[in-house]
Amino acid sequence: MPRGSAFLPLTCAVAAAQIVPAATWLPSVRAAFPRLSGVGRSDHVALTFDDGPDPVSTPAILDLLRANDACATFFLVGERISRAPDVVQRIVDEGHEIGLHGWSHRYTFTSSPRIARCLTAITDVVGAAQPRPRWFRPPYGVLSATSALEAARHRLAPILWTTWAKDWRADATPESVQAHLEPGLVGGATLLLHDAGTTRAPMSWIATAGALPALLRACADRGLRVGPLREHGVG
Ligand SMILES: [Zn+2]
Repeated sequence: MPRGSAFLPLTCAVAAAQIVPAATWLPSVRAAFPRLSGVGRSDHVALTFDDGPDPVSTPAILDLLRANDACATFFLVGERISRAPDVVQRIVDEGHEIGLHGWSHRYTFTSSPRIARCLTAITDVVGAAQPRPRWFRPPYGVLSATSALEAARHRLAPILWTTWAKDWRADATPESVQAHLEPGLVGGATLLLHDAGTTRAPMSWIATAGALPALLRACADRGLRVGPLREHGVG
């Protein structure tokens, strides 16, 4: 018997433990886990933004939300907090909710999302008095066993989305954002948008901002309340 074969089942188990949760970004897998997908109350839509804070784009999104009297959950990238601490403070001051998106925007198959460091960075800016973050959304929606365990240790619930806007793409427009959201604009939905562009598409947030007023109107027209995840009644 080859020397390493005794360890093969364990190796496979560890690999499966990593890969199966990681497949959660797939729509078919997410559908099997409604709580993880953020399925909430039937009269409510959770509005969530990833990848901020950004000193330019996040305030623009906040302006639109304020103008439309809407609140959302912002999943912050820890290492970006120091670039826009005043924006993080504004998120809290204006009644929005903070979630964690990991310290850096990387896959965390085997590495740590460094949740403790994220929590410290948030507390350093807005103080411990703000409601303690409750949610962790892994970058790219890839929930590895490593990051799931770390989230649990910090009493954070992993949460993904039911419907995405694909607003990170360089060719995104307000119309494309609306078109991607439209089929999933139903009660209980958790919508994924982005308040900051990516390296490849730094201005993609303009499409997000352009779509936001119409999105909020569409929800109102359907009798759906829009708000942060804390009001969504997940699970
Ligand atoms: Zn992201």
